[in-house]
Amino acid sequence: MTPEEPIPVFLSHDVDWGKTGAPIPHVLARRSRFDEAVINNLDEKNPYQNIPEILEIEERHGLRSTFFFRTRMDTHHRPPPYDVKEYRSEIRSMVSGGWEVGLHSDHLSIQHPLSLVEEKKTLEKVSGTKILGNRTHYTVGVDHQDLLLGNLKQAGFRYDSSIKYRRDRVTARDCLGFEREGIRVFPISIMDALIFTDLEDEGDVLRRVQQAVNLCKGLPSGRVLTILWHNCSLKMRFGRRYSEVVEYLASNEDVTVKTGEGLLGMFDGDPV
Ligand SMILES: [Zn+2]
Repeated sequence: MTPEEPIPVFLSHDVDWGKTGAPIPHVLARRSRFDEAVINNLDEKNPYQNIPEILEIEERHGLRSTFFFRTRMDTHHRPPPYDVKEYRSEIRSMVSGGWEVGLHSDHLSIQHPLSLVEEKKTLEKVSGTKILGNRTHYTVGVDHQDLLLGNLKQAGFRYDSSIKYRRDRVTARDCLGFEREGIRVFPISIMDALIFTDLEDEGDVLRRVQQAVNLCKGLPSGRVLTILWHNCSLKMRFGRRYSEVVEYLASNEDVTVKTGEGLLGMFDGDPV
C-alpha cells in the first residue's frame, strides 16, 4: 500500500455485556448519559444492548465490521461474564451477512495459551466459523504484548487488536499496524469512551474522528485507523453519534472500511 491509497479503517465493537444488557439499577445510576425517552422505555429496551441497531446502521451504509465476543465464565472482570451461546442466532446471522466475529478474550487468558485455545474453540462452535482475531478485554499494555502475541500464535489466531499505546489522545503509533510473533497487530486508534472524556459538545465526536483520519493521511504504509465503538455505548451521550461517524466514513473517498479479516487480506496480498 502506498500513502496515496485510501486509509484502511478497521471498524470494530466489543460486546462486554450479555444479551439482556445491564441491570436496570445500573442504567438508572447513569441516567444522565441517556435521553429521557431511553430511560422511560427501559422495560421494553435495554440501552446497553444495541447489536441490531449497529448492524442496521452499517447495512444502510454498505459497511461491515468486526464484533468481539467474550466467552470466559470464570472471570472476575466486570461487567459480569455472560454465556456466549445467548448470542448464537445473532452471531450466525452476522457471519452469514458478511460481518466478522472475533474473540474478546479475558484478561486472565493473556498468559495462558490453553485458555486462549479454549475460548477460541467455544466461539468457533457457537459461530460455526474460524476465529482469526482477538481483542483482550480491558486492552493490553506494552509489558504483556509479546507474551500475548506468542500465545495467540500458538492458539492459531492471525491478528490481534488489544493494544492502546496512548489513552489520552490519538497518536501516530496507535495508527500503525505491524507484524510480530507471527501475528498481525492493529493497535486501537480510537476508543469511544476515551475520546469522549474531554468533549463538551457532541458535535466534537465527528471532529475527533476527522482529526484522526487527517493524522493517518500523513503516515506511511502500514497505517490502519482502528475504531472501537462498544456495543453498550450506542444510546449514550456521545456514543449515539455513531451513525454520523459511519455516514462520514462511508462517504469519504480517503478511507476504506474493513473488518479485521478483510484487513489481513490487504496486508498479506492474498485472500484470507
Ligand atoms: Zn471489553
